[in-house]
Amino acid sequence: LPRVHGGAQQHSDTLRRPVHTLRVKMVLLGSSGVGKSSLALRFSKDEFRSTSPTVGCAYLTQVVHLSNATLRFEIWDTAGQEKYHSVTPLYYRGAHVALLVYDITQRETFVRAQVWLKELEKQYIPGSTVIWLVGNKGDLAHDRQVPLEEGESLANNKGLYFIETSALSGEQVNELLESVAHRVFECIGAQQG
Ligand code: GDP
Repeated sequence: LPRVHGGAQQHSDTLRRPVHTLRVKMVLLGSSGVGKSSLALRFSKDEFRSTSPTVGCAYLTQVVHLSNATLRFEIWDTAGQEKYHSVTPLYYRGAHVALLVYDITQRETFVRAQVWLKELEKQYIPGSTVIWLVGNKGDLAHDRQVPLEEGESLANNKGLYFIETSALSGEQVNELLESVAHRVFECIGAQQG
């Protein structure tokens, strides 16, 4: 009989496993007014194959179907805690994904995003959380204060993923959630599955 290496065996077992549901905690961070709540609403209501938004709760939910897994997102919004320049550690606890949001028309929010990143790094075990830098209000290109390249460059330097979105028009919002779903599945699928 051919000898099967332990690791390889485990891998093929994972591939054969039936579709399963993973719970994903995603937190939104960033200055007040950048569009966190608007993005959270878009994520939970928009055009995905199955939706069950729970408005009024501590988080909204969204279900995303991948070919080999179903991800049930819990989308946490700060509910204004950021105005006091800190967020309770409970907010971060167990988060699989953090979206670090800034407003492309307000440079100050881009600068603040870097402060939030430091806060995140204090709260998280490196490598356990997928972090996305999100330049929101992409529809207001005429008022842009932060060039796309600057967002990209910060993300590259800090090892983050990057995207520009518009919660108003919905542009790139589904793309973001889909990318997050794929990335998170790669990272936590093995742990939870
Ligand atoms: P939060 O404080 O970060 O949760 O921000 P909100 O979601 O409450 O949004 C703050 C303001 O920005 C509201 O007036 C939103 O309608 C507006 N807003 C949010 N996202 C966008 C966007 O993508 N484009 C534009 N033009 N306005 C937005």
